[in-house]
Amino acid sequence: MFQPGAIAAVGCMVDSCRECATCRNGLEQYCERRTIWTYGSPDAHTSGVTYGGYSTAIVVDQAFVLHVPAVLDLAGAAPLLCAGITTYSPLRHWKVGPSCRVGIVGLGGLGHMGLKLAHAMGAEVTLFTTSPGKADDARRLGADQVVLSTDPDAMKAQQNRLDFILNTVAASHDLGAYLKLLRLDGVMTLVGLPEHDHSALKAGVLTSKRRSLAGSGIGGIRETQEMLDFCAEHGLVSDIELIPMNYINTAYERMLKSDVRYRFVIDMASLA
Ligand SMILES: [Zn+2]
Repeated sequence: MFQPGAIAAVGCMVDSCRECATCRNGLEQYCERRTIWTYGSPDAHTSGVTYGGYSTAIVVDQAFVLHVPAVLDLAGAAPLLCAGITTYSPLRHWKVGPSCRVGIVGLGGLGHMGLKLAHAMGAEVTLFTTSPGKADDARRLGADQVVLSTDPDAMKAQQNRLDFILNTVAASHDLGAYLKLLRLDGVMTLVGLPEHDHSALKAGVLTSKRRSLAGSGIGGIRETQEMLDFCAEHGLVSDIELIPMNYINTAYERMLKSDVRYRFVIDMASLA
C-alpha cells in the first residue's frame, strides 16, 4: 500500500499476466504470456503502447510500483530500477556471498553497480576492463583487483580461479577468454545485449571444467524491492550525472562514446 506523499518508483515493467506459474513465482519479467514493459510495449489496458517515464506523471498499478527507502538519494536511486536490479538479480540467483570469487566484466552503467553490489555482498571482486584509465575508479567502487583484459599474462593468471562472472559488456567479444577463468562448476552470466553476435565458442571450454554460460534479465518486483532495501542498508546508489531535459541530445552523443560515469539521470523538474 502507498500513502499520500510516499516516494514511489517504477522500473522497466508496468504489468504482466500475473497468473502464470512464472508470475506467481515473482518472476514477472519472464512472464509466460506477456510482460508489459515501461517503454514501447503494447498496453493491454489502453490498446495503445506504453510511453515510458519521461513525463511529469505516470499511471501504474501499485502491484508494479516500488517503495523507495527515504535514505536513498533520489537521483542516484533512479538507475537502481534498471542497472541495479539487472546486476543484483543474477548475483543473488547464483548465490554470491562471502568467500565467493567474483569477476565483473566491463565498467559501465551495469558494471559499476555489479561491482558495488558484489562487494557489499562480501565477495572478493575482480574487475576486467580494456581501459587502463578505469583502474582507480574500479577500486573506489569496490574492486579488490583490476585486470586489463588485453594483457594475456594477467588473464592467464586468473584461469580456473573464479566462482562466478557477471559479464556486462554490450559489444560482441570472445566469451571463451572469460569462461576459462571459471573454476570447476563456475558460471558466467551475460547481462549485456550486444548489437552483433558473440564470436563462436569452443565446447571444450565448458566441458573441461563443467562450466555454465547463462543469461539474466532485470528482476521481478519482489526482488527489485529487496534490492532497494539492500541498497538502503548498505548506503548504495548509482554514480550519476544529473542533467536537464534540454541536454539529452548531448547526453545521448556522450553515452555512445561511453563518456558518462556512470548513468545520466534527467531532472524532470526541468521539463516545464
Ligand atoms: Zn505471467
